[in-house]
Amino acid sequence: MIQLKSPREIDTMAEGGRVLADTIVMLRDEVRPGMTTLELDRIAEDFIRSHDGAIPSFKGLYGFPGSLCTSINHEIVHGIPSKKRLLLNGDLLSIDVGVKFGGMFTDAATTVAIGEVDVTSQRLLDVTERALNAGINAAQPGSHIGDIGAAVQEVVEAAGFSVVRDLVGHGVGYKPHEDEPQVPNYGKPKRGTKLMPGLTIAIEPMVNAGGARMRTLPDRWTIVTADGSRSAHFEHTVAITEQGPRVLTSPG
Ligand code: MG
Repeated sequence: MIQLKSPREIDTMAEGGRVLADTIVMLRDEVRPGMTTLELDRIAEDFIRSHDGAIPSFKGLYGFPGSLCTSINHEIVHGIPSKKRLLLNGDLLSIDVGVKFGGMFTDAATTVAIGEVDVTSQRLLDVTERALNAGINAAQPGSHIGDIGAAVQEVVEAAGFSVVRDLVGHGVGYKPHEDEPQVPNYGKPKRGTKLMPGLTIAIEPMVNAGGARMRTLPDRWTIVTADGSRSAHFEHTVAITEQGPRVLTSPG
């Protein structure tokens, strides 16, 4: 069942989302070649907890050990922060973060270039971020879930990249992942659930430089591209309002 949020609850989500977005800004500034993903995780957890009432919501979620998901190169999502994972010049690092604040959850992700990356990797970053923005712009009241997916898919496929189909965006707010609605990164305009004010969703294109297929590593968390190609991931938590989409994970 889709659970709409009140304007007050959406404001609370925006407050937590600001801490989350500030965390991402801070991490983008801190990250450099030679760091491990566990170091980043520690910095993020301390930063989030330094804000009164904010906690990292991924930690312990379904047993996940980190505050961040850190996914490198061909890893799409759900990489586990580790002292053994050293970031190297030329890597792509996807950082996915969740925050709980005032009883409400927000979720956002970014992918960063570590040092200098190759031309295709940079284009993958640009296209995926552009696809996210297209998806957000399509999230207008009265439009449909399919409009979001169609907007994302169009940007990605026009660039010659692939949308991951086996993972989707999701409802968010009362829980880190709400079962409904699902928000695929592909679709047809005017199809699917109608977007109503009060709907809060995580829009999160996951885009592969090669094919769309994926597989899960033996650690049972890390999801990688089946063909070994690189992948990028950008995400915002967005509320549908009478005035249009409101990004709740914006920096302060
Ligand atoms: Mg996320």
